[in-house]
Amino acid sequence: MRAWVAAGAFGMACLGLVGAAKAADKLKVLIVEGQNNHEWKTTTPLLKAELERSGRFETSVATTPPSKAPASAWESFHPGFKGYDVVLTNYNGDPWPAAIREELEEYVGGGGGLVVMHAANNAFADWPAYNEMIGLGWRDPGFGDRITIDDAGQAVRTPKGEGPGSGHGPRHAYTVEVRKADHPIVKGLPRKWTHAVDELYHGQRGPAKGMEVLASAYSDKAQGGTGANEPMVWTVPFGKGRVVTNVMGHVAGDDLGAVKAPDFLALIARAAEWAATGDVTLPVPADFPAAAK
Ligand code: ZN
Repeated sequence: MRAWVAAGAFGMACLGLVGAAKAADKLKVLIVEGQNNHEWKTTTPLLKAELERSGRFETSVATTPPSKAPASAWESFHPGFKGYDVVLTNYNGDPWPAAIREELEEYVGGGGGLVVMHAANNAFADWPAYNEMIGLGWRDPGFGDRITIDDAGQAVRTPKGEGPGSGHGPRHAYTVEVRKADHPIVKGLPRKWTHAVDELYHGQRGPAKGMEVLASAYSDKAQGGTGANEPMVWTVPFGKGRVVTNVMGHVAGDDLGAVKAPDFLALIARAAEWAATGDVTLPVPADFPAAAK
């Protein structure tokens, strides 16, 4: 009897240790929000819930002062990037103070992960390091180069000043196509699938240094597009850090369809894990869209 009790207690202790190890293994994500031309107050909780539901992440939120806040209001904004494995930005608004910009540069340059969603790549046009991190942003044609994917699946660089600048046609459902099937973020996903009704960004511009396009979408001229395969999800190295941009995920008032889409949420979670660790262990969710022809 005594031996049985001891074994039981030992078993409990082991379970306790396993539980503790799992909690310690969770990746710390910081979602940055506070200004956006999109409904950040509804999208951040949705992203937070999804990341936590995966069991892989522990999330915190840093909210900036509102638009046109006085400099003094920014003095109390201390996101503390270095305390996190990955930062997810849902921010598109006023420039950050120099100290916060430098903190992000040091954090990513030193090996931190950064995930940029939808209009967050519209932000900070006058911040050179941010443009390097995102590779391409919502900018004028003269701002920088443009990257598209040709029919052979190769990246094509259009020099600045040539071709269209940033835009999108009316929202519609479109096909997303994987362009680097062995990359952990998209490994195991269908090669093509139909994304929800969303904006299809085109003509994004920037330095695009070291950029790898993981997924693209055909921007149909009949849908106000460019007639080219436009990058949807891509990676850029910055110092020792990894940056992933996903330009899907528009919210139109109460219509959260594009951010609630299982493919968008799965790609954000997988991007966060990869940006933090360089690998993806998250399974492809059962509700991920089926392969499209
Ligand atoms: Zn949008």
